[in-house]
Amino acid sequence: ARIVDPGVAPDERHFEAALRPRRLAEFPGQPRVSEQLGLVLAAAKRRGTTPDHVLLSGPPGLGKTSLAMIIAAELEQPIRITSGPAIQHAGDLAAILSSLAEGEVLFLDEIHRMARAAEEMLYLAMEDFRVDVIVGKGPGATAIPLELPPFTVVGATTRAGLLPAPLRDRFGFTGHLDFYTPEDLAAILHRSAGLLGVDATRQGIAEIAGRSRGTPRIANRLLRRVRDYAQIHGSEVVDQPSAMAALKLFDVDEKGLDRLDRGVLETLCKRFGGGPVGLTTLAVAVGEEPDTVETVAEPYLVREGYLLRTPRGRAATAQAWAHLGLTPPKDAGT
Ligand code: ATP
Repeated sequence: ARIVDPGVAPDERHFEAALRPRRLAEFPGQPRVSEQLGLVLAAAKRRGTTPDHVLLSGPPGLGKTSLAMIIAAELEQPIRITSGPAIQHAGDLAAILSSLAEGEVLFLDEIHRMARAAEEMLYLAMEDFRVDVIVGKGPGATAIPLELPPFTVVGATTRAGLLPAPLRDRFGFTGHLDFYTPEDLAAILHRSAGLLGVDATRQGIAEIAGRSRGTPRIANRLLRRVRDYAQIHGSEVVDQPSAMAALKLFDVDEKGLDRLDRGVLETLCKRFGGGPVGLTTLAVAVGEEPDTVETVAEPYLVREGYLLRTPRGRAATAQAWAHLGLTPPKDAGT
């Protein structure tokens, strides 16, 4: 697994849970979503009703699960956690919905991966707090309506565009999470260092924040490695020298690029004069599957302006050449 993978590794769930912010006031970053959500929740609480259903969208590792838990905590309600892939039949959803307590928060992670039949059941449940339980089969089947106590759905998706419009429309509030600024990541890292009981300097934290690809999950993971390094080799303090040495050891450069990212850029510049070159040719030269290059390395390289996807293939930008310390040929990137 890559140390800069934005997805969660199975062995870090416990660590992640320990670092989750519990309330909106201790959730750094995402100022717009945070303020809007705070208002929606406070108003619902004041009225003594459930708030609108909430949809959280954005790339992995930016805090959707954390926010769902915060919503429940702010509402002082329990939370039930499940995910789209776990709901393969309408019956799976009916069982969950019919056992919800009044006011409970139902967190549906990866909501875009829920089975179609369950999706339709969810529309009705979200709108009318009712499910139709089908009894029997074939022409004799009958729908028995079951009233539900009011509850709040918090849906999370990395792909809001994949949600069918009728489902999207049932959410009264949508918050889109964006990549974090280095300053917000630094705030998260200071808090995490405190929770982990390690001393950290401002420069050490800034060094990690700058390499974390705008993603708290990656920031926390890098912090863990720097802490290890500082404890074994250094002064036990997460400072700039230990951060630089640890992240060199783990192959994460000062812009957050790892070995795979740099391999793609170096191959593109050194072997193909900066491109454009077809994805398959590039991938073979890198020694990876085209799919790995396209889905694992490229999104960040494109987002950060190192690589262009052109109709004629992949091309390195001036920023890529500069980052590698190479001089582009005169016609590079055309
Ligand atoms: P995924 O979609 O992969 O499930 P996610 O968007 O739900 O990811 P979380 O699981 O909420 O992300 O967050 C990942 C880790 O990053 C957690 O350890 C969490 O504590 C931390 N984190 C995320 N956002 C913040 C934040 N704003 N402040 C502090 N920690 C954060």
